[in-house]
Amino acid sequence: MAKPIVYIDHVEITYNLGQENEFKANKGTTLEVFDQEYIILFGPSGCGKSTLLYSIFGVLPPSAGKMYVNGESIYDYAPMDMVFFQRKTMGIMYQQFNLIPSITVLDNVALPLIFDGIGPREREIRAMELCKRFSVDKVVQKLPTHLSGGQQQRVSAARSLVNDPQILIADEPVGNLDSVTAAAVMATLDEINQRDKKTIFLVTHDAKLLPRAHRVVYMNDGRVLRVVPNPEKDQIIKLEAGSTIVTEIEQVARIYPYDSPKELQAKSLINFLTEELSFDQISKLQKLTEQVIEGRIDYPQYMQILMRSEHEGGIGIPVARAGIMVDRLKLIIEHAHDVERYRRATAKEGGETYIRNTEYVNRIAEFLSTQCALTLGEKEKIFFEDIIKQRIGGFTRKEDFLEQIQLKSDDGGVGLHAKQAFDVTRLIEKLIALGIQRTANH
Ligand code: ADP
Ligand code: MG
Repeated sequence: MAKPIVYIDHVEITYNLGQENEFKANKGTTLEVFDQEYIILFGPSGCGKSTLLYSIFGVLPPSAGKMYVNGESIYDYAPMDMVFFQRKTMGIMYQQFNLIPSITVLDNVALPLIFDGIGPREREIRAMELCKRFSVDKVVQKLPTHLSGGQQQRVSAARSLVNDPQILIADEPVGNLDSVTAAAVMATLDEINQRDKKTIFLVTHDAKLLPRAHRVVYMNDGRVLRVVPNPEKDQIIKLEAGSTIVTEIEQVARIYPYDSPKELQAKSLINFLTEELSFDQISKLQKLTEQVIEGRIDYPQYMQILMRSEHEGGIGIPVARAGIMVDRLKLIIEHAHDVERYRRATAKEGGETYIRNTEYVNRIAEFLSTQCALTLGEKEKIFFEDIIKQRIGGFTRKEDFLEQIQLKSDDGGVGLHAKQAFDVTRLIEKLIALGIQRTANH
């Protein structure tokens, strides 16, 4: 079997070792990575991804264990060998691009070659070639700050390759980019892996990027939870028979990326016990529903795709159920608009609520009452609208709302039972989640 290009052997990494504020950011990581693999280190913020990445890069020595690259224990290198290693073997891309602001794009890309004693003419040719390849050749004479974020990151991709390293490490390289620009930069990484045949370590906390890797290393709290081969990509190494088995848990993990293996197992079971949709269906449903929320498909199209069988690209939901889903979705989206309109109107009027705005609240109250089968007297109706206003105006919390609607009307409440109150709260929170997100996007 092939030898690993990187072998992380029981590595612990401790900050402020021996001091009062000592902190162990990696608690014993073992991992083998093979030449030309695309590896994603994935996990919530603070779990130790960057720490591990910079240790592989050669700038953060483990406090225990060994880090091998090409079979050599890199932290046993003499200082000059370490410099040589970092220059010849490793390329790096950062979230903040880290380009030098006072020199041109071309010089930024060519810079690493200076340390190799390569002459100016040759440097320029090699840098220009890479700039062409990443479509930044038109801006080579500009300063980095005059470029868009996406362009700057493509310049930094060019720079990372100029020394022709074996391994490219990238720390949240698209974390600061909008989704369209991010997709373009991610495509250059795919190319660097497939065409240039570089091994890639990418750090991210964005689950959307996971399908790009050969294997995903799930991390949490300084530990590797599991290493999962991506069934959608041809693997670089022949994994031992049986080790590539992909269970439903991986699918569930795509939907709930930060759950622990135990929580994922429980989700998978609950799903079975309640005879809900399969996780494949939920994944598809999520994508489809995003399209409706963004207004890219309309309700009839949504209904069609819900009902169409799975092998025809649909979700395979029986017609009666699909109908109910579309109805509910429509109602929620419409009333979320009311939340949005109300907030916009009151913000404009400096918190004053005019008659026109109470119409939005009327409709929301009406909707909640019908959906949750409430029968309210005149007095309760007035209090109900008042409590709704407070919540969608952002003056009270979800817990306050839940409590207030359970108060007797003599105390300014609506007098709901616990179960009704729970249902109403859950529904209004859906409206708010949808309504506020829309406001924030604009
Ligand atoms: P991630 O990249 O997964 O977000 P990091 O590797 O940056 O996480 O950090 C892991 C943990 O180590 C965090 O709790 C962080 O606060 C801590 N940490 C990172 N750098 C230092 C440092 N230089 N000194 C002390 N603690 C650090
Ligand atoms: Mg990080």
